[in-house]
Amino acid sequence: MAELKLSESRDLTRIERIGAHSHIRGLGLDFSLEARDVSEGMVGQTQARKAAGVILQMIKDGKIAGRAILLAGQPGTGKTAIAMGMAKSLGLETPFAMLSGSELFSLEMSKTEALMQAFRKSIGVRIKEEAEVIEGEVVEIQIDRPAVSGAASKTGKLTLKTTDMETVYDLGAKMIEALGKEKAQSGDVIAIDKASGKITKLGRSFSRSRDYDAMGPQTKFVQCPDGELQKRKEVVHCVTLHEIDVINSRTQGFLALFTGDTGEIRAEVREQIDTKVAEWREEGKAEIVPGVLFIDEVHMLDIECFSFLNRALENEMAPILVVATNRGITTIRGTNYKSPHGIPIDLLDRLLIITTQPYSADEIRKILDIRCQEEDVEMSEDAKQLLTKIGHETSLRYAIHLITASALNCQKRKGKVVEVQDITRVYSLFLDVRRSTQYLMEYQKEYMFNEAAMVDGGED
Ligand code: ATP
Repeated sequence: MAELKLSESRDLTRIERIGAHSHIRGLGLDFSLEARDVSEGMVGQTQARKAAGVILQMIKDGKIAGRAILLAGQPGTGKTAIAMGMAKSLGLETPFAMLSGSELFSLEMSKTEALMQAFRKSIGVRIKEEAEVIEGEVVEIQIDRPAVSGAASKTGKLTLKTTDMETVYDLGAKMIEALGKEKAQSGDVIAIDKASGKITKLGRSFSRSRDYDAMGPQTKFVQCPDGELQKRKEVVHCVTLHEIDVINSRTQGFLALFTGDTGEIRAEVREQIDTKVAEWREEGKAEIVPGVLFIDEVHMLDIECFSFLNRALENEMAPILVVATNRGITTIRGTNYKSPHGIPIDLLDRLLIITTQPYSADEIRKILDIRCQEEDVEMSEDAKQLLTKIGHETSLRYAIHLITASALNCQKRKGKVVEVQDITRVYSLFLDVRRSTQYLMEYQKEYMFNEAAMVDGGED
């Protein structure tokens, strides 16, 4: 059943959607961590990207843990884009968890439990295991090849020279599956993981001098008493602390990992796991990989969440916390006090602050170019100029939205290239914030519960 779920979720990941940040492929930095003007989907914002790159390098070098970074800037200036760029530049082994401040209040668990889970999702444990493998040489493989299609069928017979005969039977089909139908040949030197039965091709042995280089750097050889070469291979598993928590939590069971419905996890379970992981670390069996936890709209957190963050960052296993906000001086939720970004001063004091700046028309144009490519939209030069102007005068986000809408308008009139007429049409159909506010001010009397003074106050 677990396998079934796994393959289902893999299939789903193949469906690619064009999301707001799908064009971001990294931070676009060169080797000296300088930001290239346009690279990996990123445009401008060079200071902030460079600063994020320095942090990233420190994370990769394993030099920092428990630090926190604040990305602060006006709406639509690329704070989330930079965080996504950081995530994409991290290796697959470094965990990256992301949540938005407001999500904490809509989950079916306490705010602090949700934060704790997010923290543990961004702490990786690299567990090293010595898997016992048996090495053998394939001396004979028979593959049935249907004459018509010419493709090898999945049946095959394999005879293996090995000291452990238990593993020999029923390996033909597995081997063909592992090596590819056409690639499995007699003379192949393979390794079989005793526990999982997994087969890996190590090399070929035509000359009887085996190509041990192909076995990779993690391979150790042990000369056995009977003179047979046996191979021990270091297998490394990377999991997050949260995954270990869920697997060990009796109330949920490991299938909760697929549904995401993990509920609250008891503190005792976490304590036991922390003790176990500490033991593994002492024995040299495991390493902690502090990842990145990104909290967008951090001003939505309240005073309890902030004090949780303050404490959690002191844990020696803490990940790097990246938070983002577009707020200025505002009330800290849960208090009557105002503070920069709505974040208490004691937490602010711990944060390295990276600011983002508004974009120039030229930068907006480049981002729009990239988005047109990403959405597979062809647009005339005039239309792009107009859209850039709209982006400069309204907002980058509004202009990005108009790309899809104008492309649909173009499709409807059976055009191939988006022209100025498509842009003006959708510009009149969909209002930006300023025009919408103006409209509300003019027609406020016809709306219910209107409080014109509030609109004047500029609350966003
Ligand atoms: P908010 O404060 O409203 O959450 P933000 O600063 O997080 O805004 P983003 O969501 O990152 O802004 O940016 C808006 C859109 O513009 C996104 O689609 C984003 O991918 C794109 N974008 C922003 N900055 C850049 C950039 N420097 N290069 C490429 N794309 C960018």
